[in-house]
Amino acid sequence: MENKKGKLFVYAGASGVGKGTIMKELLKRNKNIKLSVSATTRGPREGEVHGREYFFVTKEKFEEMIKDNGFLEHAQYCDNYYGTPKAYVDEQLNKGYNVFLEIELQGAQNVLKMRPDAVSIFILPPSVEELERRLRDRGTETEEAIVTRLSQAKVEMENAKMYKYTVVNDDLEKAIEEVLEIVRNEAQ
Ligand code: 5GP
Repeated sequence: MENKKGKLFVYAGASGVGKGTIMKELLKRNKNIKLSVSATTRGPREGEVHGREYFFVTKEKFEEMIKDNGFLEHAQYCDNYYGTPKAYVDEQLNKGYNVFLEIELQGAQNVLKMRPDAVSIFILPPSVEELERRLRDRGTETEEAIVTRLSQAKVEMENAKMYKYTVVNDDLEKAIEEVLEIVRNEAQ
């Protein structure tokens, strides 16, 4: 009998909202979820590992991958390129896994156009003030990058309506459970 294909999830939210923290728990608690590892031209943050958080590549290498049609989607965000390698996503979906794409607005719009069966989830902060506090407390970005990311965050949040589901990350445990519930309902 042929395996049932997995579901594709577009998972987005402003920088600093806690997407990554929620994602780590989703992967621990639901072994049927796989996270697509993107390629990026931004430099690694402390603790980030090539092939785990991202494939860190040069601009030249990234452009070569675009030319070779290696991306499902790619976008520019705050002066860097980010893209979803196509092969891994299709491979995991074919194996029956539910695949999460943790991507920004432009990429999300493109994927939803190309794959209308994808389920979209947007993580919201309790407030913009709280988002700013979290982004500063994280301490991974320069002041200049924080300002750019906050203005980008506002654009992303104004577009929250385009996602099928929005989850407010006020209480972390509640947010994780809400996303897991969405996966259970959608990936039957
Ligand atoms: P960060 O630099 O904070 O890791 O990521 C910046 C933004 O790029 C986040 O919103 C993240 O979800 C998004 N992003 C990461 N990988 C991809 C990708 O492959 N494609 C697109 N379009 N966005 C991505």
